[in-house]
Amino acid sequence: MFKALLVDKPAEGYRCTLSELDDAQLPVGNVTVRIAHSTINYKDGLAITGKSPVVRKFPLVPGIDFAGTVETSTDSAIMAGEKVVLNGWGVGETHSGGLAQKARVLGDWLIPLPAAFTTRQAMAIGTAGYTAMLCVLALERHGLTPAQGEVLVTGASGGVGSVAIALLAGRGFKVVASTGKSSEAAYLTGLGAAEVNDRAPLSAPGKPLARERWAGVVDAVGSHTLANACASTKYGGAVTACGLAQGMDFPASVAPFILRGVTLYGIDSVMAPKQRRLEAWAALARELDRAKLDTITHDIKLADALTAAPEILAGKVRGRLVVDVNG
Ligand code: NDP
Repeated sequence: MFKALLVDKPAEGYRCTLSELDDAQLPVGNVTVRIAHSTINYKDGLAITGKSPVVRKFPLVPGIDFAGTVETSTDSAIMAGEKVVLNGWGVGETHSGGLAQKARVLGDWLIPLPAAFTTRQAMAIGTAGYTAMLCVLALERHGLTPAQGEVLVTGASGGVGSVAIALLAGRGFKVVASTGKSSEAAYLTGLGAAEVNDRAPLSAPGKPLARERWAGVVDAVGSHTLANACASTKYGGAVTACGLAQGMDFPASVAPFILRGVTLYGIDSVMAPKQRRLEAWAALARELDRAKLDTITHDIKLADALTAAPEILAGKVRGRLVVDVNG
């Protein structure tokens, strides 16, 4: 038997409970992993509360990522005893996921835990931090350099935002953090933000074009914030869109794209090809300041995930929540 959160949808309605499962309840897969750590990402908050239809198969263990040790494997490329990381691939959505002491998945979905990280550190980064690196790498492929100017990070105190600030500052960029939490200004400058702005002006409906300011943008928020970020990006600049914390809508005009040659990059972590994942995790291992990662990280136990879920959706969580599934 092993402990897991379990989402179910009986006649009485959607629910997520701490449960005891046995191996027969694990899904189909060729690798079984003893999980050490998982996390609560924004999407896990949606899955646990049922606020959006993230879980599309019932009953299902939520948790879009985990790190642990391979217990058994019939995949010739993966050996028992190997440490591995999983992000996405529909795990925690249509295939039982990481908020459990055990998972069974396809070997193709796993990547080796970078030797530089413990399982706890890998999940402190988690899908949010790996996505932040996907954004940074997209800006790099665009050709963005610190000499070109400031980079805006929205949803700054959240998981994607916190890691993005640390990574961009580490690469020498002047980072401007946009946040709804003025109380977190010291935290954000500690991560490397050169300036911390109230998110209110970016959150409100804006004009098709605004004063050119950003050379690049990492946006975890969507909606008016993304539209305003595009409208205020400099000629030839790049915006990476990965999130929807403000909303899924995009009330923008084509003006920044056709008049300023701004490029909007969509960033998806779930189905990203393996090579891109390996590239992102290798860059995280090389670049992410471990002391900053520590200030981003909060540890919770599996049962605490139930109360953490509504808090992350309410934007109350700072940085990243690591779940010790055996705690
Ligand atoms: P968090 O909840 O940790 O961070 C989101 C942050 O957005 C909050 O901390 C808050 O920051 C800000 N925010 C919250 N509500 C609002 C609002 N109404 N208006 C403006 N800002 C708001 O989530 P994550 O960092 O884990 O994820 C961020 C987004 O990225 C989510 O939408 C998530 O689904 C998405 N995501 C997408 C991935 C992909 O593959 N594309 C992968 C991972 C995440 P502050 O208070 O500082 O403003």
